Amino acid sequence: MTSPDPKLQRMIATIESEQAATRHLTGRGPFAERVMAAMREVPRDRFVPEELRFSAYANGPLPIGHGQTISQPYIVALMTDLLEPKPDQRVLEVGTGSGYQTAILSRLYRQVYSVELISELGEAAAARFRELGYDNIETRIGNGYRGWPEHAPYDAIMVTAAAPFIPEALEQQLRPGGRMVIPVGQPHGPQQLMRLDKTPEGDTRRTPILQVAFVPLVDRATTET
Ligand code: SAH
Repeated sequence: MTSPDPKLQRMIATIESEQAATRHLTGRGPFAERVMAAMREVPRDRFVPEELRFSAYANGPLPIGHGQTISQPYIVALMTDLLEPKPDQRVLEVGTGSGYQTAILSRLYRQVYSVELISELGEAAAARFRELGYDNIETRIGNGYRGWPEHAPYDAIMVTAAAPFIPEALEQQLRPGGRMVIPVGQPHGPQQLMRLDKTPEGDTRRTPILQVAFVPLVDRATTET
């Protein structure tokens, strides 16, 4: 059953009004009902630090430690809707962070693979998935610039940190007919949320969607301790 929590209802209403206000830019009509159902189902307060739980349902990003942030709910809904998820598909996410976006994807895909650079964040997210019983998620600590070749090709790829270019490995690990959503741009510079479609013939088409502000996709070895 849908929770009647008024804060969650306000979050959903804000996503819907922001979707309507940005429709002329993003080209996205009302988000898919499945996507909005996942936004209602996943408890965002479980993915933010305890002292910030009171603002868990506000439509803004929040700090999650290590200089990283959990994305704004509207952006999570938009990026998810852009992927047009199907229940029989598998998705790769780069940048697990809090695991909130991962959890949303897990309600919409058969299997989710998620890579995180910072081991403390990736491990905390994996513990949350276990607590919440989200058992169709595999996580690993690694550099997402390389993707996760062992499970490729993916029907969809979502990157939740901004890269200066679309990483070659990710493009290769996307199956023909698949799509990727990724913010592209310099750290703290202008960034465009891009959608990349790979045609059945293997060509790629890039569509800019919206100007966004993400933390950088860092290209270095992991901070595994
Ligand atoms: N989807 C997350 C957003 C987290 S912010 C959420 O909903 O909470 C982006 C995340 O990308 C951060 O956790 C950061 O550590 C991670 N990241 C940055 N560079 C990375 C890389 N090269 N590989 C994997 N993860 C990376």
